[in-house]
Order: sequence, then C-alpha cells, then structure tokens
Amino acid sequence: MVLDGMPGRVEKNYPLKQLTTWKIGGPAEFAYWPQTFQDLKEARQRAMAAKVPLWLVGRGSNLLLPDEGLPGITLVTTQLRSIDWGDYTVRVEAGYPLARLAQEVGERGWGGLEFARGIPGTVGGAVIMNAGAHGGEIASLIERVSAITVNGTIRTFERAEIEFGYRFCSLRGEVWITEAVLKFTRGDRTEILQMMRENLRNRSMNQPLEIPNAGSVFRNPPGNSAGRLIEAAGWKGRSIGGAQVSNKHANFIVNTGGAKATDVLALIAEIQRDVQEKYGFDLQTEIEYLGKK
Ligand SMILES: Cc1cc2nc3c(=O)[nH]c(=O)nc-3n(C[C@H](O)[C@H](O)[C@H](O)COP(=O)(O)OP(=O)(O)OC[C@H]3O[C@@H](n4cnc5c(N)ncnc54)[C@H](O)[C@@H]3O)c2cc1C
Repeated sequence: MVLDGMPGRVEKNYPLKQLTTWKIGGPAEFAYWPQTFQDLKEARQRAMAAKVPLWLVGRGSNLLLPDEGLPGITLVTTQLRSIDWGDYTVRVEAGYPLARLAQEVGERGWGGLEFARGIPGTVGGAVIMNAGAHGGEIASLIERVSAITVNGTIRTFERAEIEFGYRFCSLRGEVWITEAVLKFTRGDRTEILQMMRENLRNRSMNQPLEIPNAGSVFRNPPGNSAGRLIEAAGWKGRSIGGAQVSNKHANFIVNTGGAKATDVLALIAEIQRDVQEKYGFDLQTEIEYLGKK
C-alpha cells in the first residue's frame, strides 16, 4: 500500500460518516491522518505517483460524502495543529480547530475572531471557504498562507495574491493549505468574550445544533436569504428518507437518523426546483459533495 511506513494513523475501510458533522458517508478505502505537513506532502507525492485518488478533509463540517464511500486515500488534516503565538499574530497549522482558536484569541483580549466562535471547521477549511458570520470573515485577518501547490511544492501566498469573496477563495481547488498567519487587533477581553457568548447563544436559538448537520446548505443569493426563500416555499420540516429541512432554520438539512447522501441530494434538488419555480432564484449549494452525482 502506498502509505506503508508513513508516520501517523492509517485506517482501511474507515466509515466516512465519522469524519463529517452530517454523519453521512460510506467507507473510505483508506483514511490517513498526517502528523506534519511533510507527511501530507509525502502522502500526496506517493499517491500521485501510484495514481491513487486523493481527497482532503478537515473537520468535515461543510461536506457531504457519498454513500458508496471514496476510493483511494482520504487525508484528514485534524492532527496538523501546531501553533506559535506572536505579537497580535498567530501562525497556525491547517488542522487547528477554528472555534478553539477564536476562544484562545479572545482570552488574550485580541479582536477579530469574534465571528468564528461557533464555526466548527478547521483553520484550513475556513481559509479555503472564506468562512464568515455575524459580519466578519477570515479573509480580513489573513497576512499570508502556506500551501502545497499542484506541482507538490510548498509555497507561501501573501494576502494580496489571494482573492476572497462571499465564501470564495481563489486558492480553492488549487492548493492544500498547510498553515496561515493571522493578524488581530487590540481589543477589550471582556467585551470580546461577551460578544462570543452572544453569538453562540444566537446560534443555539436559531440553528439545530443538537442534530447532525453541515451548517447552511445553500449560499444566499445576492440581496436575499436562502433560508427565507426555502421557508416561504413551505419546506420547513419536510423530509426525504432521514434527511429533513430543519424546523428551526430552513437553510439547514438535518440527519434525523440514518440519512443517506442520496436523501440529502434529492432534498437539495427538490428545493432548488421549487424555489426556482416559485421565486425565480437559482439556489447554489454552499456545502460540497465529494463524489459522483
Ligand atoms: C453547525 C454549523 C455551523 C456553521 N456555521 C458556519 C458559519 O457561520 N459560517 C461559515 O462560513 N461556515 C459555517 N459552517 C460551515 C463550515 O464549518 C465552514 O465552511 C468551515 O470553514 C469548513 O471547514 P472544515 O475544516 O470542516 O472543512 P471540510 O468540510 O472538511 O472541507 C470543506 C472543503 O474545504 C477543503 N479543505 C479542507 N481543509 C483544507 C485545506 N487545509 N486546504 C485546502 N482545502 C481544504 C475540503 O477539501 C473541502 O473541499 C458551519 C457548519 C456547521 C456544521
């Protein structure tokens, strides 16, 4: 096997559902948790040389994984967690949990990550998605990122070389982020922590956090809210198989137990068709499906 002798955990036929917040997905032929970015680079090199398919997963909080599983190697970044604190800056590896970083930054009285306390992804996933909420987004904090490029080398990108937009980063699909350098502002510790608590409280009131989900399923169309359109079209509470449009928030699809990826895809397609028919909006997904449609 191409990963023979690599340091870190390797599993054969590993249930992908354990790698996503939606708790959906068949077996990964192999799952690998690199311990360092050099392991990640080496695994990539070996797999490419052997023409083995590769998939990159962070916390799996924005992903729908296929019922039939994924061939080849699913690389999971969550062990890449080194962190160095500087003067209102941090260098942090891609697998570091964003919500934990937000809390630690807030504890120091540094401003900038208040929006991120309730976002369950990794730093790498947040950069590549330009994660944001409550009027903030990670792009505004980035000084530079390092990444493995398509030709397998490590390269550093300065902020000015990267384009960001609403859930958009120009590096997406091009590179694997290995680390980011983020810059914060001087703030008031009590106020920052208070804001984070409020953001968390709002989320638990408005989002179905107690049932497996992947956050917002659809992107907001310009000038509108996907959740409001889906709710107005009467989809709250409707389900296909184990996938249900949340009663709490219409842009969330929850796994009420044993949902299949095909249930979620069918529900997404039905919602898209109906919202298009009723309101003329072409809803695009924010979540990503890694598999054949
Ligand atoms: C309850 C809940 C609330 C959420 N709220 C928000 C919110 O408020 N705002 C928001 O923006 N999002 C939100 N999300 C979605 C999600 O948490 C973010 O998109 C997050 O940034 C995804 O990070 P991840 O590590 O889970 O990425 P994954 O889901 O593992 O991967 C997503 C994509 O990023 C790629 N990727 C992952 N790591 C890397 C890397 N190191 N380099 C290159 N590509 C990589 C993957 O290949 C995949 O294409 C929410 C999700 C949940 C479940």
